[in-house]
Amino acid sequence: MPGTSTTGAELRTARDEGIAGPLRVALTTLGCKVNYAEMAELAGQLAGLGCEVVPEDEPADVRVLNSCAVTLQADATTRQRLHRLRRRDPGCHLVLTGCSVDANPDRYLAAGSDGRPAVPGLDAVFANTEKLRIADHVAALAAGRGNPLRHLPPAGLRSRAFLKVQDGCDHRCTYCVVWRTRGASASVPEEVVMARARAAVATGHAEVVLTGVDLGSYGRDRGSDLTALVRRLLEDVDGTVRIRLSSINANDIPEDLIELNGDPRLCGHWHIPLQSGSDQVLRAMHRGYRRQRYLRVVEDLRRRDPDTELTTDVMVGFPGESQEDHEATLRLIDEVEFLGCHVFRYSPRPDTEAVGLPQQADDALLRSRSAEVRRAGAASARRRRQRAVGRQHRVVWDRVAPGEAHGLTDGYHEVVADPTTGTRTGRMQTIMATRVEGDLLRGTILPEPGGDER
Ligand code: SF4
Repeated sequence: MPGTSTTGAELRTARDEGIAGPLRVALTTLGCKVNYAEMAELAGQLAGLGCEVVPEDEPADVRVLNSCAVTLQADATTRQRLHRLRRRDPGCHLVLTGCSVDANPDRYLAAGSDGRPAVPGLDAVFANTEKLRIADHVAALAAGRGNPLRHLPPAGLRSRAFLKVQDGCDHRCTYCVVWRTRGASASVPEEVVMARARAAVATGHAEVVLTGVDLGSYGRDRGSDLTALVRRLLEDVDGTVRIRLSSINANDIPEDLIELNGDPRLCGHWHIPLQSGSDQVLRAMHRGYRRQRYLRVVEDLRRRDPDTELTTDVMVGFPGESQEDHEATLRLIDEVEFLGCHVFRYSPRPDTEAVGLPQQADDALLRSRSAEVRRAGAASARRRRQRAVGRQHRVVWDRVAPGEAHGLTDGYHEVVADPTTGTRTGRMQTIMATRVEGDLLRGTILPEPGGDER
């Protein structure tokens, strides 16, 4: 689907006077890690072009919103966020892309009589397949305005590099439109992934996150698989960098991938969407695994590495979900002990198989079930954090300010610590977790072996 856009000459800017500095671009991401990976890649391209990539809460000349449409609520969030971004920066050039565009082509891709997007307030719209053109579009805007080129590192993105290695999905979950909007699974060639991973390491990243719409199907269209890719990354990429997998379905985690969980350079953190703990509901959702399979994968991962942390997504209120089904989900959460549990309510979407199914639970019941699942998730996360106290963790620092450094452990615990002289954004250090502070672990940074405080 083509994008609709304005030209560089039509750029409206909040900083229109005097000599132009680098074009300031803010990126906003909603939804899954694939969207985050795409925006991280775009940030790198924009920085390479000489734009200044600024945090979302700073004034910007150009704003890009990468949207999500996994539920109707997500679509509503896209609309609200567009309004908010426009209010935040009335003069900015506002660009929309992502799944909301693909799910609502009539709304977003229609052009008005002046050739601009028909939706008021939007300056340019790109379908998912057109996303790669956004950097060129912004470059044209910068050229139209006479912005000088200035090479800057992508601000705030140096600690973790998100590599999107796969797009599309061959599954057919009955509540989902993503497999329709993104199309069949397609993998980035292994050589290209390796080159991008090496480039990420060369630019100072300490962690590479592999993402995909359906990461577990990586390589199938090329006669390969995810295990082979991860193995090659662990063998070939600089030994000081760690690898993390983003979301992966339980039915896409084979034995040989589980075996790699013992490798200290592969983060012991797996995000495995659950959706429901009931086989009856999983069947109706067309999920490719059942409760026992899910639990076995978790058990096998923890057999390889007992400190493995799990995070998940749970959908509440799928049509036909009974009280018994709901309780099966609560029991599974309790049994697995997730470190993070993203809970969302089912909402019927046009163009899905589930839309025709009769909804049985009423709104109040769904609200109370969501609250119960959240409570169960929070309780299990508290137990995992408590268990992490008194242990050593490798942390990559995301933000370092005087007196306080924030980072993430291999297992995805958020950590806060007093920086040492060697603490820098993007650097990996070892901490001893001393206590829990809210949702964070408080840690003490341990001296490097040999006392090297670089
Ligand atoms: S696995 Fe299911 S929920 Fe995920 S993108 Fe594919 S069809 Fe949608």
